Amino acid sequence: MAGWRGVSLWMEQLDETLTPRPALHQDLHADVVIIGAGYSGLWTAYYLKQQAPQLKIAIVESQIAGFGASGRNGGWLMGNLLGEDRLLGPLPAAQRHAGYQLLHAIPDEVARVCHAEDIDCNLRKGGVLYCAARYPEQERRLREQLAAAREQGLGEDDYRWLSPAALREQLNVARSYGALYSPHCATLQPARLVRGLAEVVERMGVHIFEQSAVIDWKPGQVRTEHGRIKADWVVPAVEGYASVLPALNKHQLAAQSLIVATEPLPADVWAEIGLNRGQAFSENSRQVTYGQRSGDDRLVFGARGGYRFGGHLRSDFKLSHAERELRQRLFSELFPILRNVRLTHAWGGNLGVARRFHPHMLADLRQQIALAGGYGGEGVGASNLGGRTVAALILGQDNELTRQPWVFGDRALASLPRWEPEPLRWLGYNAIIQSFVHEDRVLANPHAPRWRRKMAEGLAGCMERLMKTKEPFA
Ligand SMILES: Cc1cc2nc3c(=O)[nH]c(=O)nc-3n(C[C@H](O)[C@H](O)[C@H](O)COP(=O)(O)OP(=O)(O)OC[C@H]3O[C@@H](n4cnc5c(N)ncnc54)[C@H](O)[C@@H]3O)c2cc1C
Repeated sequence: MAGWRGVSLWMEQLDETLTPRPALHQDLHADVVIIGAGYSGLWTAYYLKQQAPQLKIAIVESQIAGFGASGRNGGWLMGNLLGEDRLLGPLPAAQRHAGYQLLHAIPDEVARVCHAEDIDCNLRKGGVLYCAARYPEQERRLREQLAAAREQGLGEDDYRWLSPAALREQLNVARSYGALYSPHCATLQPARLVRGLAEVVERMGVHIFEQSAVIDWKPGQVRTEHGRIKADWVVPAVEGYASVLPALNKHQLAAQSLIVATEPLPADVWAEIGLNRGQAFSENSRQVTYGQRSGDDRLVFGARGGYRFGGHLRSDFKLSHAERELRQRLFSELFPILRNVRLTHAWGGNLGVARRFHPHMLADLRQQIALAGGYGGEGVGASNLGGRTVAALILGQDNELTRQPWVFGDRALASLPRWEPEPLRWLGYNAIIQSFVHEDRVLANPHAPRWRRKMAEGLAGCMERLMKTKEPFA
């Protein structure tokens, strides 16, 4: 893989030539300038133009549309937000119910736009299988999650338990303790969505400047090496790249996620594994694991990630032998039939994590800065909601989008929770991840005695709770 095609399997699969759009070589005025042509920036432009076609909107992108996480992700289009239970849980029942409905409707909204705008991204709404697969503790934890969902008023239509036999009808994992199934998820070809969206907004009259990195920004203005755009509203939509925009980097921290794809697998292998209607699946370790069957019958499997001291970006995503091996070992444990299968693609990307581990959406009315981000690896669907919400905030609307607990309304950018300074972040990250890795190793060993299992799980659980509290290092 080479150049922009080499960014991911998905970018390589595109039929188009990936010729960059012209760069910014002049000074311009616009109503709204958006930094970054990923889903967040493009959805914002889309919903703004839909409702206010007269707006002059410009997008400046450092590489090409889809270069970031939007052209690289695992293709889970979720009707959820990271941390939604913590945000919606405390609300009165009716409001909580409405919040969940808004989230669960995200995949259908994306499907609606794709249909209306003729974006073919192989979107299939097959739901998601959260599998209890490698050790029995996963079943207990998933059943606890199901009980918590029921307490929040979510019913059988939202989450239901599948016995090992019922799971096998959809997905055949080696060791199965059952699964939690939710219909509110689709899978898609991510790059086709982001590239398609770019074309759509361009047709609507949005100017996209590519290979135009913003080197300086402030309220009312962004500057690239060869031009400047003055605008009423500035929308930074860089997610995992927040470290390049000072002020934003205090609130959105870069982490990395790594992913591999097998060669296309023959029909008899898929007959054994399943996943025949676009389901997403994960294995319920405390560390991230996710997968889907691609349109051309590959297993696309992402697992684990990384954090670099100071939140530095990773730019070289040529995975090491060890990084590929780890992912192949993990999916082979689930699907032993794939033990010797060839990996043809391996890549990764930077994503943004917010301090409270849930996304934020806001419009700072004084500085006229609006943004959505901090999706923490669950941004394919969330960025659609983010774009819709940011558009509503810029247009001064007061509606169900703007009245959600993840919306900071008219608060200042500086009011978003901040990350602790280094080396606290790095030490904290490593302590937490090591406790998760240790737990996974102990629990996956069927001979580990009960007391060791309990201790490992207790420690990792404690670290997870600590991570999500307000000020863990204060
Ligand atoms: C490997 C991986 C797997 C993932 N899997 C999933 C998944 O299956 N489901 C899910 O929900 N989420 C997933 N995510 C997260 C999801 O992809 C992101 O949350 C989402 O794509 C964020 O979109 P965005 O537009 O906010 O950011 P991005 O797509 O990262 O876009 C930001 C853009 O800003 C540009 N940019 C950066 N700096 C500048 C600058 N100085 N000037 C101008 N432009 C700049 C970048 O080039 C980039 O194009 C995954 C992420 C990764 C990395």
